[in-house]
Amino acid sequence: MTTPHGRIPYLPARIEGLATLSMNLWWSWSREARHLFRSIDEALWHLTRHNPLELLCRVDPARIAACASDSDFLRRYDDVMGRLAHETTSPDTWFARSYPELDGRPVAYFCAEFGLHHSVPIYSGGLGVLAGDHCKAASDLGVPMVGVGLFYMKGYFDQRLRLDGWQQDSDEEFDISLTPLVPVTGARQEPFLTVVETAGRPVHVRAWRMMVGRVPIYLLDTNLDVNHPDDRALMNKLYAGGPDMRLRQEWILGVGGVRVLRAMGIDPSVWHANEGHAAFMMVERLREYTAQGMPLKEAVHQVREQGVFTTHTPVPAGHDAFSVDQLESVAGPVWAEVGMDRETLLSLGAHPDLPGQFHMTVTAMRLAAGVNGVSRRHGQVSRNIWRDLWPGRPWETVPIGHVTNGVHLATWMASPIMALLDEHLGPDWGSRLDDPGFWDRVLTLDHGRFWDAHLRLKQILANFVREDARRRFATQLKEAAQVVGAGTLLDPTALTIGFARRFATYKRANLIFRDLERLRRMLVDPWRPVQIIFAGKAHPADDPGKEVLQSVYQFTRDPAFEGRVAFLEDYDMHLAHLLVQGVDLWLNLPRVPLEASGTSGMKAALNGIPQLSTLDGWWQEGYDGLSGWAISPAGESEDADAADAERFYRLLEEQVIPLYYTRNAAGVPLGWVEKMRHALRLAGSRFTARRMVQDYVQEHYAPAIRGESSGDDPPTA
Ligand SMILES: *Cc1c(COP(=O)(O)O)cnc(C)c1O
Repeated sequence: MTTPHGRIPYLPARIEGLATLSMNLWWSWSREARHLFRSIDEALWHLTRHNPLELLCRVDPARIAACASDSDFLRRYDDVMGRLAHETTSPDTWFARSYPELDGRPVAYFCAEFGLHHSVPIYSGGLGVLAGDHCKAASDLGVPMVGVGLFYMKGYFDQRLRLDGWQQDSDEEFDISLTPLVPVTGARQEPFLTVVETAGRPVHVRAWRMMVGRVPIYLLDTNLDVNHPDDRALMNKLYAGGPDMRLRQEWILGVGGVRVLRAMGIDPSVWHANEGHAAFMMVERLREYTAQGMPLKEAVHQVREQGVFTTHTPVPAGHDAFSVDQLESVAGPVWAEVGMDRETLLSLGAHPDLPGQFHMTVTAMRLAAGVNGVSRRHGQVSRNIWRDLWPGRPWETVPIGHVTNGVHLATWMASPIMALLDEHLGPDWGSRLDDPGFWDRVLTLDHGRFWDAHLRLKQILANFVREDARRRFATQLKEAAQVVGAGTLLDPTALTIGFARRFATYKRANLIFRDLERLRRMLVDPWRPVQIIFAGKAHPADDPGKEVLQSVYQFTRDPAFEGRVAFLEDYDMHLAHLLVQGVDLWLNLPRVPLEASGTSGMKAALNGIPQLSTLDGWWQEGYDGLSGWAISPAGESEDADAADAERFYRLLEEQVIPLYYTRNAAGVPLGWVEKMRHALRLAGSRFTARRMVQDYVQEHYAPAIRGESSGDDPPTA
């Protein structure tokens, strides 16, 4: 009658598999599994913010006993457990069918953060969510993969806004026992798996395993009694502390990550660094080869052959670089171990324009044969900004390609939209996603039913906004004006625009407020009102970002806007779900070309929500005139902010608002729903994580496994 997981108190034997289910994040992208947990205790499901472990810990034992003898519950339980077994063990997968000749050694996927579900708060935003979606899609496709990341005890910060709108960061340690993290012990039951030298002392490294379908992700942790107190605190927080802290975190991620895999007997065939933070993984692999006696040149060749590197940043200053002194104090005499002199190691991370620095992105580009940006445009931008590393080569031929990002369908598409597809396409549509032309069929979705499903999701968002404002009013003693700012006066029938993303200045949330009177006229129009919901955090060290946030927040309480501008605190994956499923229009205003890809607009489109955006990142290749609106680029002589704002207002006034409010006799905006159908087709056919991981397999993983990497030259400068 006990379960394999000590933390869950009691489960009747007939349904004890619920413990296993709650420990594999696969449940979070299975509609049936979510429904099963919700049906145990709906109120508790909401109260625990969809955390099945906490639900099982807190539920009334009498209720669990009742479930164990309820035939409907048992039928659904058996179905879900069957699906779990199939999705985690079935050998008949897309990968096995497409690449029967490749062995089952995994792709090692390194990333500083993973966003899988809001109950595991070890992500800050886009990069982490993308990494999570990558692993989920790899599991669905049967791509053998193992993730490596860092365990942040205090996660990312919780956002609290002062009355004047200044962001204060608070953080609390999360309760590991309410997450599906399991500590991995060493061969002799010791609590650590490996030791890494940093700053002249040994740091013991532990790993926690988190199962994501078939894919294990190992999170490294240094909070062990044997470690020096400074080293114990090393993994407290994500992207916090100074450059020294960051360098040491990245050293642990790269060097510790490889050694932890080795300690567990895992032998990857491909090594993928997702963003430059993980580049030391490649340096450690170089050390492994040379320690076996391989000459350096050959070792570099080997590491490159099996290496894949994805860059995510379109501005040179956004890439991690450390001073040579810093590297020397953290890494110590690692060059001796690698069998190279100091200058040779430093030259791996050298950039001709940045002397005296060790550049993580440059290192990764030297040690990976497969290098890509994350959208077509970002590929071009990257070839341009790194051209100096290949002197004498025309920039167009710089060997950096692109794999456009995508989002995980089963994670981001709302259940009512899936139910609509069940009805329209048949309940097995999920198995036909790779059929050419499959997504064209959503262009015949019934207007009225699609609109109804959307309105249901809009209502769910409205309810959440009100209840969340009430909760913060009650527990955080918010002022009445802040309760208004939190969206309590929003109108469930007005055209609702969503703008949710990190508050970095280049994302230009304040562009919306450039002409206050023109904006106000649209928002408070009594016949065709418009409202805007904002959410997002500024990076704790980004004061200009916090100033933009503060100025936006002021407008939420300005009576001139009559309660039609709202700011929702604490943007996380839970809030992201509600927003990308429940607003009418997704808005994105990055200053071109600073958005590498952007993914939130893809999530919205998967729910049939059209986007209005500048032609940057994914929209530059996704915009087709049918599924949303584009702000055309400013001319050479124009001020880009002024021109973009003018075009934004004009699109709203002349196209968006009229289309939304043109209804048929049944109240359905036929033209708008037409856009919704196209948005759904666009995202489903071209911007899913399934397509993204298939591209990575075809273009990078399979060639690396076969030893047929591009053969392009490493940077020569
Ligand atoms: C998707 C997502 C992001 C990234 O959105 P962008 O459009 O790339 O800015 C950030 N945070 C959360 C919580 C997300 O779900």
